[in-house]
Amino acid sequence: MPDHKTPACDCGYEVSATDEAGRVEEIRAHAREAHGIAFSVEEALLVLLRSELDVSRDSSESGIRQRRMSQGGTP
Ligand SMILES: [Zn+2]
Repeated sequence: MPDHKTPACDCGYEVSATDEAGRVEEIRAHAREAHGIAFSVEEALLVLLRSELDVSRDSSESGIRQRRMSQGGTP
């Protein structure tokens, strides 16, 4: 599944803002409106970072493995 973003929220909500400050505000607004949770800026940042870390770890690992496999033999 290429180009699929990991949702920032467990309920499947994805942020659409492109800058970090916008994402933080979006997460905070979503948590408050959809879940009744008041996130601090720090908590919203943690949620964002965690979802971004999962995405990059996933894609870089499988990317490296696939590249190694397809190169395979000696040049
Ligand atoms: Zn949610």
